[in-house]
Amino acid sequence: MSTPSSPLKAVRGTRDLLPPETALWVHVESVARSVFSRYGFGEIRTPIFEATELFARGVGEETDIVSKEMYTWEDRARAQSEKAQSLTLRPENTAGVVRAYIEHKLGERGDLQKLFYIGPQFRRERPQRGRYRQFWQIGVEVLGPVSSGAESPIRDAEVLEMLATLLDELGIRNWQFQLNSVGSSEDRQRYNAALREALAPIKHQLCEDNQRRAETNPLRVLDSKDPNDQDLINALPKIADYLDEASRDHFAAVLAALDASSVPYTINPRLVRGLDYYTRTTFEFTVPDGQGLGTQNALLGGGRYDGLSEMLGGPKAPGIGFAIGEDRLILTLQAQAEAAKNAGAPGLASETWVSKKLDAYIAPMGPERNPAALALARELRRAGLSIEVGDGTFRLKKSFEAADKVAHTIIILGEDEVATNTATVKTFATGEQKKISRADLVEALNSKQ
Ligand code: AMP
Repeated sequence: MSTPSSPLKAVRGTRDLLPPETALWVHVESVARSVFSRYGFGEIRTPIFEATELFARGVGEETDIVSKEMYTWEDRARAQSEKAQSLTLRPENTAGVVRAYIEHKLGERGDLQKLFYIGPQFRRERPQRGRYRQFWQIGVEVLGPVSSGAESPIRDAEVLEMLATLLDELGIRNWQFQLNSVGSSEDRQRYNAALREALAPIKHQLCEDNQRRAETNPLRVLDSKDPNDQDLINALPKIADYLDEASRDHFAAVLAALDASSVPYTINPRLVRGLDYYTRTTFEFTVPDGQGLGTQNALLGGGRYDGLSEMLGGPKAPGIGFAIGEDRLILTLQAQAEAAKNAGAPGLASETWVSKKLDAYIAPMGPERNPAALALARELRRAGLSIEVGDGTFRLKKSFEAADKVAHTIIILGEDEVATNTATVKTFATGEQKKISRADLVEALNSKQ
């Protein structure tokens, strides 16, 4: 039990987002919404908790997410008609979107579904900079029946080109884009078998984690960052040599469309990613070390998931998607803006979010003027101006100090001003002070922008 002297804190791995930083979050989300709408995406909002089985089937029992990171509880029955059910806070949003696609029969609409989401996800990971237990993702899913063209490599390339545009419009510098093809599920089975064979004689030389992965999910060995294992891992068979002709052609067509749009990329044969549902194209965008993210340098990841709908009991609905770590985008923007400022470089596009001063601060002279001050604030705010109202008990000096912190101008409202239907306006930047009639006030304040 906590005592009154030990105040409660946010739970480990979660945090409060406060102004003015939240203005940057709103900015990032509005740029994302603007980009997504230009590419024909619509927003989807799925529940924050789902049946545990959705993630077990959709993400994969063997993944770290499902095997050790989910917040799962037994939801007790509350009525005779209700059964107890295992529920889980969503660790990612793709499974939920595909479940909604199946449940609402979106496939029967016949066209390509282009959906985006913005929301919190939950994983019980070890918290560190850029890694939280509640974090935010901005993601996109493009899926539909085969007849809608959902399998086409142009869909992959379009999503990737859109990501490059989004990061550029946000002002993220130096992003690096790596991609790979993990082939069809048959390709992966053959590759998995080859990996197991290659790992068998060298397994004992690998770190403990990799020895376990070599047994349970050999693809995950490729993800390993253990420095001692790198030479051995680099010498393992490459998935590119196990792709069938259709997967090879698909990947080549994605690359050709990226080349045509001049989106720079690197092929990384080891990029297989942690989730089981990926097929064919997989990708990751990172920023170099030292740009805000420390070791957690992946800004976003994604890939194609042609078999996921069937895994969840739905119709064939090939698709591709990505999830951006919004927390990491924000950390990167902040670190890059800071570095640019220190280097005396011109401002970044991202600095447009920096909290702005209000148009005016109304200072009532004496508590009797408070009602008139609130009425004036209402009038000016309804005219589109941003206004703060002080309090009549403040002395003039205190009002000026408070106003200077938050607003461009101060409006002094004394007995005389109220009686003559005027206001005294001082502009801080110029030091100019004038008595203005109420009828001209909105125009006068607007002209001071
Ligand atoms: P994933 O869903 O694992 O493919 O992750 C996609 C992106 O979400 C990653 O590239 C990260 O930017 C972000 N992300 C994943 N896990 C976390 C976490 N625990 N905290 C913050 N961001 C995360």
